[in-house]
Amino acid sequence: MERILHFIGGRQMPSADGRTFENIAPATGEVVSAVARGTAAEIERATLAARTTLAGEWGSTTTAERADLLDRAAGLIEERLEDLALIESRDTGKTLTMARTVDVPRAVANLRFFAGAIRHDETAFHHMGSALNYTLRKPVGVVGLISPWNLPLYLLSWKTGPALAMGNAVVAKPSELTPGTAAALAEILDEAGFPPGAFNVVHGFGPEAGQALVEHPEVKAISFTGGTETGRRVAATAAPLFKKLSLELGGKNPTIVFADADFEAAVAGALRASFLNQGQICLCGSRILVERPIHDAFVEKLVAGTRDLVIGNPASPDTFLGSLVSAEHRTKVENYLELAREEGGEVLCGGERPDLDPPFDRGAFLTPAVISGLPPGCRTATEEIFGPVVTVHPFDDEAEALAIANGVNFGLSASVWTRDLDRAHRFGASLKTGMVWVNTWLLRDLRTPFGGVKASGVGREGGRWSLDFFSQTQNICIKLSEEAQ
Ligand code: NAP
Repeated sequence: MERILHFIGGRQMPSADGRTFENIAPATGEVVSAVARGTAAEIERATLAARTTLAGEWGSTTTAERADLLDRAAGLIEERLEDLALIESRDTGKTLTMARTVDVPRAVANLRFFAGAIRHDETAFHHMGSALNYTLRKPVGVVGLISPWNLPLYLLSWKTGPALAMGNAVVAKPSELTPGTAAALAEILDEAGFPPGAFNVVHGFGPEAGQALVEHPEVKAISFTGGTETGRRVAATAAPLFKKLSLELGGKNPTIVFADADFEAAVAGALRASFLNQGQICLCGSRILVERPIHDAFVEKLVAGTRDLVIGNPASPDTFLGSLVSAEHRTKVENYLELAREEGGEVLCGGERPDLDPPFDRGAFLTPAVISGLPPGCRTATEEIFGPVVTVHPFDDEAEALAIANGVNFGLSASVWTRDLDRAHRFGASLKTGMVWVNTWLLRDLRTPFGGVKASGVGREGGRWSLDFFSQTQNICIKLSEEAQ
């Protein structure tokens, strides 16, 4: 069986105590690898390797050298696209098409983007008359990157790019469910020429390896993407240690469709926002609010479109939905379907385990579900389910739509469908979310700020916000002599 080891100080290594855990392919239930199970001991080794190179080879690289290294790594990811897509699809159960066209290309784009960003980065200069101020950007030091299982390489590279670009040394802890592409990324960065210790990966469980990383006094910043409850624990640990902290957490994002919208485009957009990656994207539109005059026709079309989505073998080009990430996660989603029925909802389609041929009959598949008839404030319609389940709610006017949209603890993103430009501006600005899309969804420009409000997180990543997070600024004030003033 394949073995996945830690990558520390430029070398692959097992855990000091030799312990491993099983990596299961969720689409078949097959155990595919034995993964080194890291603890505080491996975090200590990785942190030491990171500090050593920060004080030596890595700490003396120039911006131009780091940009070139990132570009080289991006090229190597591109060369290994097929291999990486297979690993990602195997570990997550997502379709190979999604891994090939979204996950891996985005990892390439992330590294290239931050290579370019530091080549063109500028810092502040303030002329006082009697003195000159200029601002330096310095690395934060050793930074911890903790990433989830839904977009493993995509999100790890989104953090790794700016962290390395700014000259930090990284200790990464990927989700225990998806270790494969993090291990591959370590090999790729090594091959690209990053010195030993600049990028380290410790595999393992959140409460062991993840917690030890957040607690380590030499780790000066934590960039965390994951669930809101875990984020709360990470914040409680990191805040008293005065670490820089970026938290990208859960969502319960509304898709709001006004009667004047392009009907066909809105149905197609809502369908994609509901079920892409089996609904396991923090930005998925899991609540669909539809203006009453078009509500019934919209729901009919949405349900028909949902029924047409092909589910099954993730490697088949026709498949739109692969499996969920694990059998445990499927059970959690099924419990929400049960709750929806108890809360008075009607499951209009889906929510069943499909009848698939071996080996997929043992996979964590669940047909996509549309639920109507629920009050917008009930648990099903306000808690994050993170699966192929959406609820649909009618509304009568803009004020009601806004109240429902903002009536949850989360505030990550929203997608608004309307032809009325004034309304798009007004309504968009009134939404309590970090991001709003109008007549589209998940259209990303990497220069823009990414992040949420309320229980969806603290801080922003993307563009200069990532460069800010992964650096410390220092202002130098130089007094001018009388003659120079
Ligand atoms: P999770 O359970 O919170 O885990 C996220 C990461 O944290 C994993 O690597 C996990 O390790 C680790 N972890 C768990 N306990 C920890 C602890 N005490 N200290 C440090 N690290 C710990 O989230 P998930 O289930 O992997 O991902 C789904 C969630 O992520 C959803 O809520 C989704 O909305 C959110 N998400 C947010 C964004 C965003 O940008 N806002 C993007 C994607 C996903 P283990 O895997 O070993 O438990």
